[in-house]
Order: sequence, then C-alpha cells, then structure tokens
Amino acid sequence: MTRILKDRGFVLKKKKFRETSRLITIFAENAGKLNLIAKGVRTPKSKTSAVLEPLNFIEFVYYDKPTRELQYISSADFIDDFSVIKSDLEKIRIAYLIIELVNIFAREGQANLDLFNIIQLTLTSLDQNLISDYQLLITFLIKLCEISGYTLYTGECPICHKSLNLFQEEYVFTRNYGVVCSSCGGVSNSIINLGIETKKLLASFLEGMTDKFSESDELRLKHIYLPIFDFLQHHVDEIKKIKSLELF
Ligand SMILES: [Zn+2]
Repeated sequence: MTRILKDRGFVLKKKKFRETSRLITIFAENAGKLNLIAKGVRTPKSKTSAVLEPLNFIEFVYYDKPTRELQYISSADFIDDFSVIKSDLEKIRIAYLIIELVNIFAREGQANLDLFNIIQLTLTSLDQNLISDYQLLITFLIKLCEISGYTLYTGECPICHKSLNLFQEEYVFTRNYGVVCSSCGGVSNSIINLGIETKKLLASFLEGMTDKFSESDELRLKHIYLPIFDFLQHHVDEIKKIKSLELF
C-alpha cells in the first residue's frame, strides 16, 4: 500500500536522475535522511526545481510505497530559502560545510531530533546575522560531536577522571580523547598543539561561556574550528572526503 506522507527537512544534495528528473537527498524531521525522486524538475516549466536546491528548508509531501526502492516527491514548498546566507560567500561556505556534515552523520530512515534542531538553529542564526559566523560554526561542531557520541569534553579528564576547569588549569587537546588534563597529555600520542590565546577561546566554548568576545577574538575564531575538525576526522573517516572544506 502506498502512503502519502508530509514532512519538513533540509535539502542536502541533488543529483541528475534519468532524462528530466533529480534524486534529492533531504534530512527530514520525522523520516531522517531520505533519497527521493523529483520527477520532471529539470524541465524549464518546473516550479519545484528552485525549492529543491541544497540548503533550503522545505515542507514536502512524498509517496511511500514499501515495494519500491526509491520514493517520489509529490510536492514541495519553501519554509526558508536562507537568502541572506546565499548572498554572502563566507556564510555559504559555512552552511555547505554544515549540510555536508549532516549528510555524513544523518542515518537513512532514522529521525534525529537533536541534529534536526541544531541545524535549524544554526542556519536560522547564520541567516539572521545575530552572532558571528564562526562562533555559530564552532558551536555547531561541538554540539555535533556531542550528539554523535564523540565527546570533546565532559568536565573531567577522560583518562584519569580528575574534574577540570579549563579557565583555571592547563589542558591538552588531543585527536583521540578531546580535552585531557596536562598530566595525562604526556601519555597521549595525538596532541594537537594550540597557542595560549586559542586555548583560552576554545575553553570558553567548551565551558559554555561564549557571550563576551572582543574584536581580536573574532579573528581568532576562524582557527578554532580546525582542531575540532581534526578531532572529528580522527573518529569519522568519511569527513576527509568533504568537498566544501577546500573552499576554506
Ligand atoms: Zn588526566
């Protein structure tokens, strides 16, 4: 039996399919990651084509027929097309990096409300210009690590379990374990070397104190996402294939 389902989601990818159609990858609120065929959207008459571009937040209806391998989109509309993001090169890079990461971490047919909410919050804030772009990216990455079970920092050293306060004591950042205390740092062979100022800034993210950044901090923020990325890459191989990283 064919069911007709309605969902909301972010368009992650599009690919040509047959003569006039496209295969669209969407991360949906209820259905998780979905690959759906959008019939006839490569014809000039198609009105849905613009809705099904990567990054858009859309509401859509699709047919779900269990006996068919690929399902069809019946209709789709914009919830948000993030026009501010699309008019700013730096925002575009960050937004594409985010959707490529979501494509890696989202599972087909498996809802992930935490992930859905953090994408919605990050892209909406990026579009509204309320917080600096890199601050949003770093906050997203830290949250993504947490949701995916690769914890960067829990408030204690994961090796000796001593409790830590990153503002008061030295810490070491590693590819394997994330943050470890300075005595355990020597044991790890995966240290990522960071400058003092970078460490201080990273600490403010990890301790959840990101309300006061100076102008010079803003410039330094551009470098903080790199060690977090290094950490994620160490744990998730597919991240090495991300295309939008070359844009940075
Ligand atoms: Zn330790």
